[in-house]
Amino acid sequence: MKSDIEIAQASTMKPIVEIAKKIGLTEDDLELYGKYKAKISNEALSKIKTKVSGKVILVTSINPTPAGEGKSTVTVGLADAFNRIGKKVMIAMREPSLGPTMGIKGGATGGGYSQVLPMEDINLHFTGDLHAITTANNALAALIDNHLQQGNELHIDQRRIVWKRAVDLNDRALRKVIIGLGGPLQGVPREDGFDITVASEIMAVLCLATDLKDLKLRLARMVVAYNVNKEPVTVGDLGVEGALTLLLKEAVKPNLVQTIEHTPALIHGGPFANIAHGCNSVIATTAAAKLADYVITEGGFGADLGAEKFLHIKARSAGIKPEAVVVVATIRALKMHGGVAKTELAKENIPSLTLGFANLQKHIETIKSFGLPVVVAINKFITDTDLEVQTLLEWCDRENVVVALTEVWEKGGLGGIELANKLLEVIEKEKNNFHPLYDLSDSLEQKIQTIVQKVYGGKDVEFSPKAKKQLIDFEKFGWSNLAICMAKSQYSLSDDPTKLGRPTDFTVTIREFKPSIGAGFIVALTGEVMTMPGLPKKPAALNMDVDENGNAVGLF
Ligand code: ADP
Repeated sequence: MKSDIEIAQASTMKPIVEIAKKIGLTEDDLELYGKYKAKISNEALSKIKTKVSGKVILVTSINPTPAGEGKSTVTVGLADAFNRIGKKVMIAMREPSLGPTMGIKGGATGGGYSQVLPMEDINLHFTGDLHAITTANNALAALIDNHLQQGNELHIDQRRIVWKRAVDLNDRALRKVIIGLGGPLQGVPREDGFDITVASEIMAVLCLATDLKDLKLRLARMVVAYNVNKEPVTVGDLGVEGALTLLLKEAVKPNLVQTIEHTPALIHGGPFANIAHGCNSVIATTAAAKLADYVITEGGFGADLGAEKFLHIKARSAGIKPEAVVVVATIRALKMHGGVAKTELAKENIPSLTLGFANLQKHIETIKSFGLPVVVAINKFITDTDLEVQTLLEWCDRENVVVALTEVWEKGGLGGIELANKLLEVIEKEKNNFHPLYDLSDSLEQKIQTIVQKVYGGKDVEFSPKAKKQLIDFEKFGWSNLAICMAKSQYSLSDDPTKLGRPTDFTVTIREFKPSIGAGFIVALTGEVMTMPGLPKKPAALNMDVDENGNAVGLF
């Protein structure tokens, strides 16, 4: 069996100018980054603004397990299937971060015969967006420290600086650092730390901004510290939103690439799915909707985090009304939710599979509660037995769930035609009554309660003394009308990663809040959330190399 990178390298790409033609763009509308990658120019983006928007389809999944669900793979394969049945379609996806790529993921551009190309470039430095975000993040950090050095006119409490430095790598040694050592000329000594770039609020801001002007306004609102009176100090107070926007003026334009089957794809922005909202940029999704009749896009992690945030944060802030949602499930992951150990997944196990359906069922109910039509995509692995597949299909039938066996990893778009047709049918026939589950005018506590009870299926929420105190401050600062961004374990519907399947009767504890005012949400932290991951014992980097002709080895 060929690896993802072998399949990608054996594929022939078309010049990106040709791909652009399919969606009505000329070479003049593009800013070329070589032959196969381009950014869409500001002029082209404003030109298409008045066009009617196409239909947006969200791909999400059951709670992920180490067995892998294949959301990106299905996103790409589904778009290729739409393309094969003659629909004008585009993909809007996140750009990978180098941290997980060098760590455990080895890449994030789909898999098998459903990939976006050039996969090496997209997985490595691509068009430099993440570098620009890293630079803007660190420019701000340097400007804050310089403000302290030059007399601290804003009376920033140096123990209450919340803006951290960033690097797009998994580097645990940088989580906590002391800076400014060495005497008066070297700055003001203080405790600092690094986040991975995709956890920087600038990434979330870039992904939610609708254009350059909105980007600047959002950057200005970001809180970087608190002053000696414990009041927030913003980027606007420092007066550097213009400089930050300047550093991001290219990164804010969406990147056009293609799939193995030459379907056009916009790959743009990639915020963390816990501390942020985990979806590609609003600019890319809305541009794709203007350029095509159907847009296939995805959210991070499972439906409890990715879809909830897509629907409550991104769709609300951008005015996107999705047409339908695909919930990706694998037999392997369902068996894990039913109690099977990772090492035993290749063996048929009908009782555990059946137990695992409970997890899928909860996500289907949640999507329906948003008033949206849902189709389940079984992402087929070659180890799935016929009886297992049959059992899942029969369960869906009994539960009145629309389901499609999806073999896009093995067969590309051909393996997703059933899924595409079922989606078209559901979009046409089923009522779409999309509505958020909470209103922005609800209190922050109420919003969290709604998410915990309606999306996670939990009983209650508890707030730590610190969180309660923060809520009082937030009310004072006028932040109560912001959205909630939950930072919770992706592995469980609850805040306990060991509770697989469909736990009930649990209470979620909010330990602390982190305001992301530029992004427009308050992050509610349950448990410890890592904003700078570490590398595993055997990082993917150990298998990476480049041959004498410059071809990448070891991305997957
Ligand atoms: P997610 O988006 O849910 O994180 P990806 O689509 O990135 O998942 O897939 C994760 C990995 O699993 C990729 O390496 C991909 O090649 C592999 N994969 C996905 N679907 C299948 C499948 N049906 N059979 C075998 N491998 C698969």
